Amino acid sequence: MAKGYLGNKDRLAEISTFGKAIGKRAGFTCEWCGSKDELRVWDYKPDAPPDLETLALLCQQCRSWTDGRKASPNELRSIRNALWSDIPSVAEGAAKILAQCKESWAREAIEESFIDVDIKADILK
Ligand SMILES: [Zn+2]
Repeated sequence: MAKGYLGNKDRLAEISTFGKAIGKRAGFTCEWCGSKDELRVWDYKPDAPPDLETLALLCQQCRSWTDGRKASPNELRSIRNALWSDIPSVAEGAAKILAQCKESWAREAIEESFIDVDIKADILK
């Protein structure tokens, strides 16, 4: 079911209340790759209530990957360290993008991370 215009607007307003805290946490750099390019808050779990654990500050390039743009293996190396974050939106979100890359280093990096085993298995399947 579509949430409708108002629902979406309320959600965006709610997310924006986390903006300051997330910007501070991220040190005003992209939480995946460290870039400072057009940073915006990204919603990892659009179906759950917005929370610090499900939001991440991402740059324009990283957000384009969450929108389905294909990343080259070289570009993906820039988000590899995000796997070590203890914030789910950062670690799991980056793992999902990395899993699209079929090179063995990407798979191994996800396997070595501390992401919850069930979530990891789901990402790697
Ligand atoms: Zn980035």
